Amino acid sequence: MNNPRIASIEWGVLEGLRPRNAGCNSRLPDHGPTMRDAIARVTLEDGTSGFGFSRVKQPQAEALIGQRLDELISVEQGVTAAGLPIEFPLWDLLGQRTGKPVYALAAEYYGKSLDGPQQAKCYDTTLYFDDLHIASDEEASQLIAEEARQGWERGHRAFKMKVGRGGLHMPLEAGTARDIAVIHAVRDAVGPDAPLMVDANNGWNVNLVKRVLTETADCHLFWLEEPFHEDPVLYGHLQNWMRERGLLVLLADGEGHAAAPLLDWAQAGAIDVIQYDLRDIGLTKWLKVGQKLDSWSVRSAPHNYGSNFGNHASCHLSGVIEHFTFVEWDHADTPGLDTSAYSLSEGQINVPDAPGFGLALDDAIFQLVVQRDGYQVSA
Ligand SMILES: [Mg+2]
Repeated sequence: MNNPRIASIEWGVLEGLRPRNAGCNSRLPDHGPTMRDAIARVTLEDGTSGFGFSRVKQPQAEALIGQRLDELISVEQGVTAAGLPIEFPLWDLLGQRTGKPVYALAAEYYGKSLDGPQQAKCYDTTLYFDDLHIASDEEASQLIAEEARQGWERGHRAFKMKVGRGGLHMPLEAGTARDIAVIHAVRDAVGPDAPLMVDANNGWNVNLVKRVLTETADCHLFWLEEPFHEDPVLYGHLQNWMRERGLLVLLADGEGHAAAPLLDWAQAGAIDVIQYDLRDIGLTKWLKVGQKLDSWSVRSAPHNYGSNFGNHASCHLSGVIEHFTFVEWDHADTPGLDTSAYSLSEGQINVPDAPGFGLALDDAIFQLVVQRDGYQVSA
C-alpha cells in the first residue's frame, strides 16, 4: 500500500525507575525516583506501526484517524503541522516502513548521508541537591562525588550538576559556599578530563556567577546553564568578563519558557549552547534549528530531563547536527520500553542501525497502561 491511512492510535504512560531518588534543583522540590513517558503507538491500515513520546489528547487522536501518512510526514519536510501531536511515532513509523533508522532519515532531510551504526556523546544529568539534609559541606560534597562515581561506573564520561542551593533551599551564603565545595569534589571524583557542567536553573545573578566561576576556575567547567533568566545585556557583560580572565566557560540556555529572541542572541554571540526541549519542540523543529545554529557555529544540546524515550531519541540528532554537543542522559529502567539495542560505553551511546528509533514496546505492558489510564481510538 503506497500511502496508507492511520487506522488506530493507542496512548498510555509508561513508568520507569531511576537508579536513585533525584532531589531538588534551585527552584523545584524533590524530583523523586520515577520517570513517566507518555507513549503513542500509531498503526496504519496496512498493519505497520510506530511509537514514541506523545502528548496527543483523545480528540486530537480521533481527528488523525483516516489521515494519510504522506499528509503528516515526509523525509523532505519532516512532520507537518497536522502531524505534530504524534511527531515521534510518525518518525518511527517512517523508519519502520523504509527500514531506516531515524538518524538516516534526518540525514536525508539535510541532504546528507549517514551510514553505519552511530555513536552519540552524552552526559550524566542526575546530580541533584541530594545533600540538603546534611549539615557539613564536606559530607555533602562526598555524597555528590559518590553519585558522580556511580555515573562513571555506568559508563558516563561527562557530568552535569545542579547548583544554586542558595537560591531557595539554603541560606544564600551557605548555599553558595556548598555549591563551590561540591563542584570541587565532583571534579576530583571524575578527574581532570571529563567535561563538567553546572546548571543553576536561573537561581543565580551576575555577581554570584562571578564569585563561583572565580572560586572554581581550577575546575575548568565546560558550560554554565541558566545562571539567571536569559538576558542579552547581562550575558554580554558576563562573556566580556570571562574573556578578560581567560575563563572558557560556555553559556547554555533555552529550555522551558525560552525568550523569543533567544536565537538572535545566540547568533550575536551572547549564548554558546542552545537547549530547546526535545519533546516540547520535536525533531523536525530541532532539525531546522540545528541547521541554523550550525551556520552560526553555535552548539546544540537539546534539553531532555525526565524522559527515557527522549534519552534514546536525542541520539538521532547527534550525527546530523554538526555542532551537536551532548545528549542529556537521565537514566531509568522502564518496564514496557525495550532499550536493549542501545548501550553506553566510555561516554558514548552506541545507537543501533535498526529501523525507526530502534526501540521496542512490550505489547502486554503497553496494552495494560492503555487500558488502565490511557485510551485507544480506531477507524
Ligand atoms: Mg537545565
